[in-house]
Amino acid sequence: MKKKTQIRIIVVLFIILMIFLIYTKIKNDHNKEAIAVQQTKELFSSLDQNYTANINKYIIYGTHFNIEGNINIPKISGISIYSVDLILKNINGDEMNLGCTHNYKNSVLSFSTITEINKGLDLESLSQSNYYLILKVIYSNDDIKYYSLKNDSSYENTTYYTITKKSSNNKIDINFDSYNNIPYMGISVTQINKLPDDVYDIVIDPGHGGSDTGAINGSNTESSIALQCAKILKQKLESSGYKVFLTRDGTESRQELTANSVYDENGRVNTAQASHSKLLISLHLNSTTGTVKQGGVEVFSPSNCNLDFAKLLAKNIVEKANTSYSAVDTYKKSDGVYVRNFTNADILAFKTKAKKDNYEPYNITTSTPYLYMIRETGGIATNAFVDGRNKNYGTNKYYNSNIGLESYLIELGYMVNDTDLQNIINNKDLYMQGIADSINSFYNS
Ligand SMILES: [Zn+2]
Repeated sequence: MKKKTQIRIIVVLFIILMIFLIYTKIKNDHNKEAIAVQQTKELFSSLDQNYTANINKYIIYGTHFNIEGNINIPKISGISIYSVDLILKNINGDEMNLGCTHNYKNSVLSFSTITEINKGLDLESLSQSNYYLILKVIYSNDDIKYYSLKNDSSYENTTYYTITKKSSNNKIDINFDSYNNIPYMGISVTQINKLPDDVYDIVIDPGHGGSDTGAINGSNTESSIALQCAKILKQKLESSGYKVFLTRDGTESRQELTANSVYDENGRVNTAQASHSKLLISLHLNSTTGTVKQGGVEVFSPSNCNLDFAKLLAKNIVEKANTSYSAVDTYKKSDGVYVRNFTNADILAFKTKAKKDNYEPYNITTSTPYLYMIRETGGIATNAFVDGRNKNYGTNKYYNSNIGLESYLIELGYMVNDTDLQNIINNKDLYMQGIADSINSFYNS
């Protein structure tokens, strides 16, 4: 055979092979699509067509999703409600139980997944798929009913980006839509190549700054040490692959970041929120007005929270940096872990101030976190309240957001205690290693 003919035959065979492969792929895709449509049909036909549950509130705090709602179900005599669950169902029919508490009164069944704001559905654990959130009710006569969820909250569709792990992220879209006139809440999880430019994993907030030095001991200022520590921590976290945002980097002017300007457009509260991070670590050094020169580590956590991570932070800092837990008992929850909420005396002082400054008092309760970086970056989950009614302050644009950062404030030690201060100045790296280790094990467990 001539060489030319041989090449012709090979080319023709190759073209036939390509056509065959493309045909098989189209056929497969077509089949998959048909199966997905069929499964969606089945899923929606399994729902109770008479009643739909209402979503009153849904929140994302840090990496966790929680929801609250109710449904009107007329009471049928002789039949009671045996169990209530919120489940995530994907089109393959796989069910994941979120667990929830419920209460049935006057034909209204209310349900909630919220126990601790940093627990609930771990968005980081969801694998790539399309899910529907459904209410599952089992009745005492063994009837199982599935109800769809309709958005009755003031929150629209939401996008969440998972923490960077092995240079990879998932994009999670929480959307409200309807299928054959049945409203539903869908959660779709897809992989993305790169986080959008304005989306970060973690915020580090070096306390104070600008004209606000924080505590002082000799020539040492809290704001300067906190900044040095923050830069070390940023480097450590970035070397673990996280995308890290600093609320200030030392270039701020002397006028900026005073107590009144933290709520401004470029203040630490709004920029932290705008970074779409999941975790915020605020770094401080303590001071005291008392004569006792106490020392040691204090990690402040939000209230209504599981404290495991706060405990881990305190333990790792104490062990790595060879320091001690603070001996302070006020607000203490466990070794080195503190939850400071407004006390009745604080609330009264706030009300008096509001009256004097002529603004409507904030709605503060004894479960509202006292420390503003913890409270204001948590949105509705932590009862953020700086909404502009006090004209002396700016506005937290995100005070009403249903998406909050899981925030911790760490007092590394006491500025006024020379042993603490020297240890921090000499061993910043070890203190920050304790925090970095905690974050790495927190997100990889
Ligand atoms: Zn401070």
